[in-house]
Amino acid sequence: MIDILSLSLEELQEEIAKINEAAFRAKQIFDWLHVKRAVSFSEMSNLSEQFRLKLAEHFCIKRLNIEKKLVSRHDYTVKYLYELPDFQNIETVLMKYKHANSLCVSTQAGCKMNCAFCASGANGFVRNLEPSEMLLQLYETERNSDMQVGSLVLMGIGEPLDNFNNVIKFLRLLSDKNGRNMSLRHVSLSTCGLADKIDELAELRPGLTLSVSLHAADDETRSKIMPVNNKFNIASLLKSCKSYYEKTGRRVSFEYALIKDVNDSLETAEKLAKLIKPLHAHLNLIPVNPTGHALRAPANIKYFYERLVQSGINVTVRRTLGADINAACGQLRAESTESSLKMTKCN
Ligand code: SAH
Repeated sequence: MIDILSLSLEELQEEIAKINEAAFRAKQIFDWLHVKRAVSFSEMSNLSEQFRLKLAEHFCIKRLNIEKKLVSRHDYTVKYLYELPDFQNIETVLMKYKHANSLCVSTQAGCKMNCAFCASGANGFVRNLEPSEMLLQLYETERNSDMQVGSLVLMGIGEPLDNFNNVIKFLRLLSDKNGRNMSLRHVSLSTCGLADKIDELAELRPGLTLSVSLHAADDETRSKIMPVNNKFNIASLLKSCKSYYEKTGRRVSFEYALIKDVNDSLETAEKLAKLIKPLHAHLNLIPVNPTGHALRAPANIKYFYERLVQSGINVTVRRTLGADINAACGQLRAESTESSLKMTKCN
């Protein structure tokens, strides 16, 4: 059975032609799936019953099950633990801001990158998500919350550039004028720094914001907390970021999780400023979230922040949304696979 939600309009046209039906039908079906959000072929009332039965023989319309839904009391954050068709769990976080709602989407079940502070890879890597499974995080969340999502960040579980082809396909589906039609200007992709893939992405000029998880200002520290640094060190990563900026005209944004006694000295702040200043980049400081590791955030991040500002860096401190519902990366999936936590189905 073909996963119909992963097909582009052109691919759907080809598949429809293969079953001897008129190609123009593909556009109607695409509209049912991505605009009207049909979850079964029987809803597609402008197609004959015979054709709908034929479609159901060849294609499946995937769904995600809501395994758990946590609503934060302190802020406007809703975290979904979704179950994939093969019973893997992934997380999706809906953040409600005054101006627009933003959705944090997972790209893999598990993660290979093993960053010391991150819970996403706590139970290893299982598999890449299909384009449909990324899209469905948006569709199921919009359906369940009855809200429209205005922006999307690929910052959930997984390393998006390690699932490159499916992520690109997902972005094309997401921004298709005949489908969900979300401008990629409202999309951010966060990477731990796969420099070769950043180069590949730059060639496609996707028009999104590239966010790079830097988290250290020297190779020794970065390799300790992010093993990916042994493959692509800071110099090679920043070279790719620079070339991304030059090719796409879009400034890269950096993420920096502040960890007490690891990367929080004033000397480090100065080193960091020197590294990223030539890129005219934006820096997002995040007090590290305690997620089952011994790393802790410094008691005061003001001095580090101010030193960066004095050095002329455009810096913000990320609000920690949803701390009471474990909204940090991978925490919920790690708990659900690790412990005997009892879960209740709620959809
Ligand atoms: N793999 C991608 C995207 C997923 S993580 C990446 O590495 O960028 C999204 C962001 O959350 C990254 O910047 C990641 O480094 C950060 N992050 C993960 N665990 C964290 C924690 N415990 N505290 C603060 N930031 C964390």
